[in-house]
Amino acid sequence: MSSHKIIIAIDGYSSCGKSTLAKELAGKLGYSYIDSGAMYRSITLYFLRNQVNYSNHDDVLNAIANINLTFVFNEQEHQSEIHLNDENVELYIRDMIVSEKVSEVAAIREVRSFAVGQQKRMGRKKGIVMDGRDIGTTVFPDAELKIFMTADPEVRVMRRFKEMYAANPHTTIEEVRNNLELRDYIDSNREESPLHRAHDALILDNSNLTREEQLKLVQEWVKERIADLKSAK
Ligand code: C5P
Repeated sequence: MSSHKIIIAIDGYSSCGKSTLAKELAGKLGYSYIDSGAMYRSITLYFLRNQVNYSNHDDVLNAIANINLTFVFNEQEHQSEIHLNDENVELYIRDMIVSEKVSEVAAIREVRSFAVGQQKRMGRKKGIVMDGRDIGTTVFPDAELKIFMTADPEVRVMRRFKEMYAANPHTTIEEVRNNLELRDYIDSNREESPLHRAHDALILDNSNLTREEQLKLVQEWVKERIADLKSAK
């Protein structure tokens, strides 16, 4: 779209479709896409597998020292996939067992500084779309474009339910609703960089937008932002 590369930060509540938008947008722009939630999910998976007592500060630090997270581009699927210590863990990190614990793990200060440090480094060359909860507020407070996504809670529950049901037909709507409510509550009320809209983020409510409509709208925002930056030079 343009050779002028920027950082695009997308934040919002659980299951607003942030990843879908971020992935499609990055594809259109030729940018890299980073799913920061996948990092917190992978750390949680490591903690669960290794029975890390995450209420113990030293145990958390020792565990983090043994975690290596990388994003590897899968040519066949046209997407980047997270690897935990060289193992592709995409298939495991969205299980309910991880979803149930991830917000507690993501609230731990040491976990956040580990993940945020890596995320900041990934943005050095710009040309990146990153989605999460604190991208526009903490990771990239100077991002050229910030978007805060929201959608009607029931729309979000049904979207997530369909995804999870496809992977596991034992999933219930109640279980999905409880998990989304709990994660939104913990994410918005934790001490360390809680989820809130950056004052300069544009709000995108996609309750009644199709994927194509929201992508078109955001592509317009990107164009406008880049034009503004060029004319301010
Ligand atoms: O985006 P996703 O729903 O996969 O994120 C899983 C969890 O990771 C969130 O509920 C939140 O607790 C945590 N998270 C976070 N900060 C981010 C991204 C995700 O705390 N930037």
